[in-house]
Amino acid sequence: MTERIDIKSKTIEELKELLIQWGEKPFRASQVFGWLHEKRVSSFEEMTNVSKILREKMAEDCKLVSVTEIDRLESVDGTKKFLFELADGQAIESVLMKYHHGNSVCISSQAGCRMGCKFCASTLGGLIRNLTASEMLEQIYAIERITGETVSNVVVMGTGEPMDNYDNFVRFVRILSAKEGKNISVRNITVSTCGIVEGIKRLAEENLPLTLALSLHAPNDEIRKQLMPVAYKYKLEDVLAACDEYYEKTSRRITFEYSLVAGVNDSAECAKELSSRLRGKNCHVNLIPVNPIKERDYKKSRDAAIQNFKNILEKNRINCTIRREMGSDINAACGQLRRSHTTKENQVREEE
Ligand code: SAH
Repeated sequence: MTERIDIKSKTIEELKELLIQWGEKPFRASQVFGWLHEKRVSSFEEMTNVSKILREKMAEDCKLVSVTEIDRLESVDGTKKFLFELADGQAIESVLMKYHHGNSVCISSQAGCRMGCKFCASTLGGLIRNLTASEMLEQIYAIERITGETVSNVVVMGTGEPMDNYDNFVRFVRILSAKEGKNISVRNITVSTCGIVEGIKRLAEENLPLTLALSLHAPNDEIRKQLMPVAYKYKLEDVLAACDEYYEKTSRRITFEYSLVAGVNDSAECAKELSSRLRGKNCHVNLIPVNPIKERDYKKSRDAAIQNFKNILEKNRINCTIRREMGSDINAACGQLRRSHTTKENQVREEE
């Protein structure tokens, strides 16, 4: 049997093409899309304004991708962390965060990651596979289904490097922002990248006003290489030039993420060097005290060092905030719930 079509991963245009191939009228595409992404039916039968013939054809040739909750951690501050299982048994993490401006969900874009950042738990087991657009969307849909909450902001900052799964990621954004579907404004979607230059440049051409968050974590290549192997491939100068290009094309202010690691990138010299590199850019720096993982010996910067770092940036008129730690009581550091699940599974397997 040929592989069933993943119909939830199709943009309206792609759905139109498929339906035309099947001899249907193009306008059916927005109806079917609405059933999938707005009403979110769990069977094709429920698509009541669609002909029986088309419903049967879809039931025969297509699949409805979904995710299953297998674990959940809830923080006192309202943050909820979900572990979802995919159809092939892979587990992925997603987080719901409540802010006064609305609910935000952080989704994963890959099962595992091959970028190898030294302080990150998501990369320890390497990349297993890319997620499909439907698997990215389902993380949001499942959280709305389970909690009854409405999600208004999405950040692609969970496990995985979105630019390493470019086509599925862009398809995900187009479907998520379609007015016939969940209809989240592209401006309310943030994508975080470790700095894949071709990806950033390509994204600048998509005509999608996404907020771009760039994982900087160092003021120069030497320190960046110690933390992020991707720095061997792309020079900081080229990464920052790609960000400038992104800003010119989209007018979206860039966010630079900077995780502070004690004794590695948190000195006053680092803050000064960073200030001179970012001077004059319309940007925002998010300072994140690193969340230590047990597999590595990195430590969080002291409060005084964090404050001093911030003061130096501000003195140089660089916008910055220290990221409020959400869900710290449930250890919401990237990839740690998935990691504890996969290592537990391995232990069970070894014991069998
Ligand atoms: N691959 C993308 C998106 C996923 S990581 C990227 O690199 O941007 C999301 C953010 O969390 C990145 O800035 C990443 O560097 C940071 N991060 C990962 N593990 C962390 C940890 N233990 N402590 C602090 N920040 C971490």
